[in-house]
Amino acid sequence: MTSARVVVWRNGTATAVAPDEPVVTGFDLGLGRGDGVFESVLVTGGTTPHLDAHLTRLRRSASIMELAHPGDDAVRAVVAAGVADWPAEVEGACRVLLTRGLGDDGPPTLLALLAPVPAETLRQREQGIAVVSLPLGVPADVRATAPWLLGGAKTLSYAVNMAALRHAHAVGADDVVFTSVEGRLLEGPTSTVVWAAGGRLHTPPVDTGILAGTTQARLFDRAGAAGWPTTVTPGSVEDMRSADAVWLLSGIRGAATVTRLDDVPHGDAGLSRRVRELLAR
Ligand code: PLP
Repeated sequence: MTSARVVVWRNGTATAVAPDEPVVTGFDLGLGRGDGVFESVLVTGGTTPHLDAHLTRLRRSASIMELAHPGDDAVRAVVAAGVADWPAEVEGACRVLLTRGLGDDGPPTLLALLAPVPAETLRQREQGIAVVSLPLGVPADVRATAPWLLGGAKTLSYAVNMAALRHAHAVGADDVVFTSVEGRLLEGPTSTVVWAAGGRLHTPPVDTGILAGTTQARLFDRAGAAGWPTTVTPGSVEDMRSADAVWLLSGIRGAATVTRLDDVPHGDAGLSRRVRELLAR
């Protein structure tokens, strides 16, 4: 069993520490307020092939949060120290955390936490997921003009997202698609919604305040290059229901096929294989 690893950025150096060693004080604002940002980076074959896209988004999230960023080289260094000697045959999830530290213009806290991808995540990637649609309670356009709602930032404040997942589990589902007040599709608590309809791949617009998914962006780039048209569509749950296939995309789990939507079985018209091939390239 490959054990978890922790790397902390201290005095300009990436330092690997024992996973149970304390690395932040209890006063860290990331701990008390969720005042920070993060990324989950896939480790596969002992490398992080998609790190650059996560570095870009981490910078963007930090900027939206007005959070000091120690620079891409620091982030690369903590990730590299975590991934060093990671066994090629074990898929890993490397979580990069960047918090406001103690605040008052003090240095941010930067950590990399690396652990094997959970077996349940691998199962969902292979076998698909049952999904429920749940209202998030926000109008689709509110976050575009309300910067304090932090639309588009991958913040550490995921308590609502985790509660939605617990609710899904309580009703026998695996995952969630959030909808706006108007019934427009937003995103999953940890994933981007993509559906296939009319010979195209669709995903909701990011001006709804959802996170710009790195996996969705990669899929759309590659699908477009391979002649599968893609489009940004303000869809509804009905659009998902009538779609040929629906996936929830995220860096660690990849493309999870939606096999049940609000308790109704959903097929994938044999398209999941093509999606996986495009993502694997
Ligand atoms: N939306 C949310 C809210 C997420 O937490 C994630 C996961 O990181 C995604 C979308 C998918 O993003 P990515 O494909 O970059 O992992």
